[in-house]
Amino acid sequence: MSKTTKSKTTKSKIAQEWEDMLARVECRNPNQPEFLTAVREVADVVETKACKDKAIRNQRIFERLTEPDRVVSFRVCWETDKGEIQINRGWRVQHCGAIGPYKGGLRFHPSVNLSILKFLAFEQTFKNALTGLPMGGGKGGSDFDPSGRSDREIMRFCQAFMTELFRHIGPQTDVPAGDINVGSREIGYLYGKYKQLTNTFSGAMTGKGLSYGGAPVRVEATGYGLIYFVREMLDAHLDAIKDKTVLISGSGNVALHAAERAIQLDAKVVTLSDSTGTLYFKDGLTEGHIKQIKKLKAKDGASLEAFKDKQGGVFSKTKKPWSYKADIALPCATQNELEEADAKQLIKNKVKLLAEGANMPCTEKAQKLLRESEVLYAPGKASNAGGVALSGLEMSQNAAFEKGDFDTLDEQLLSIMKSIHEKCKLFGSDDNQIDYVKGANLAAFDKVSNAMLAFGVH
Ligand code: NDP
Repeated sequence: MSKTTKSKTTKSKIAQEWEDMLARVECRNPNQPEFLTAVREVADVVETKACKDKAIRNQRIFERLTEPDRVVSFRVCWETDKGEIQINRGWRVQHCGAIGPYKGGLRFHPSVNLSILKFLAFEQTFKNALTGLPMGGGKGGSDFDPSGRSDREIMRFCQAFMTELFRHIGPQTDVPAGDINVGSREIGYLYGKYKQLTNTFSGAMTGKGLSYGGAPVRVEATGYGLIYFVREMLDAHLDAIKDKTVLISGSGNVALHAAERAIQLDAKVVTLSDSTGTLYFKDGLTEGHIKQIKKLKAKDGASLEAFKDKQGGVFSKTKKPWSYKADIALPCATQNELEEADAKQLIKNKVKLLAEGANMPCTEKAQKLLRESEVLYAPGKASNAGGVALSGLEMSQNAAFEKGDFDTLDEQLLSIMKSIHEKCKLFGSDDNQIDYVKGANLAAFDKVSNAMLAFGVH
């Protein structure tokens, strides 16, 4: 056999093995579309490295990453105010502990299932690696629906949830935080129960209140970090955020803090949204508006529509933020909220930049369209890593028995977001263009795979 034929045969054998591996992953995870989408995104980018690098290929590093280290599933049984027994399901997915204790939020929402948590945990491993801090990836939550529940019911649910979860977490093992519907109130109830059950006061959770070990800026960090990342993206393309028109979806933690920081940097934020519709302010929202919306949202179940009545914005039950014209789009609500048609509309409206505040808010088809267009597109694992980065700083603060101040931590957040942008640039630059999806995934995979190789096979 000639040298060329031999190398062609070897090449196609490796490519076939890669395809077979992806087919096995699909087969092993039926009915888990979110998880498989996340795997495909990373696989697409790392294929060349994972196939070319003999050690990574022989040690089947990527395939090992498609199987979480551990998945814990448990019953959460609790009582309503009327004394009715409720049964929910709880999970903790400890995805990869190669570079540090598992770290990732808890989500309480009726849509929560194993596929969503596995996708979030998988993403978290790569996101955490990008921060440069020693944190592995995990995620957890429950199909519990907190809407309309009283404060006592939320407390009982959180306590019941922690009564099982506490066995699986700890400052050196797994450090959960908040996510959708798990804010400071829920973290308080969860951590309080953890403390009681273990008789320890440790950094086993982040997002804690400032009076019991929490870090300033944690609440703001994902939204602020997103805007710092956007600023870096614009800067790398000789542009600036000042006077840019911005579309934001969601009106929760990430959305409101992204809006707040963008406004402070003289951008014009024209939309926010929630599950009932979109609020549009032609001349831009002010910091005062954001403060009032924060108050409104703190009331259980309040819709943005109520805010419109008082302030004169336009509220639409049918329009999404993406139908309005703007320079920047920041999806900050939930996964798959931005579909193919929305991406087409944004491209048609000549949006310059889209950075994900939420986890995987763009569907696979929307992401493909955006990546093929002129739009600068940043995946959540890079652009929304500010929250977990601050959590990492909270962990260091707890371990050192120290307390940081707002300005110092905000500076550290800024510097971490800058370093994530640098990594994207380093690993994702082609012909003077930065491919943020490629850069983020390759940089993270490089770090995680190095650690996995060092540990041998287990
Ligand atoms: P919140 O629960 O605080 O807010 C979620 C917001 O999204 C709410 O305003 C909610 O509206 C809205 N929403 C939910 N579904 C839809 C929908 N289909 N269409 C429009 N709006 C919708 O969550 P967070 O802000 O904390 O998280 C948002 C996203 O960011 C999630 O994907 C999360 O995983 C991700 N993320 C969060 C981090 C954090 O630090 N909090 C860190 C990194 C990522 P309503 O109130 O009506 O339900």
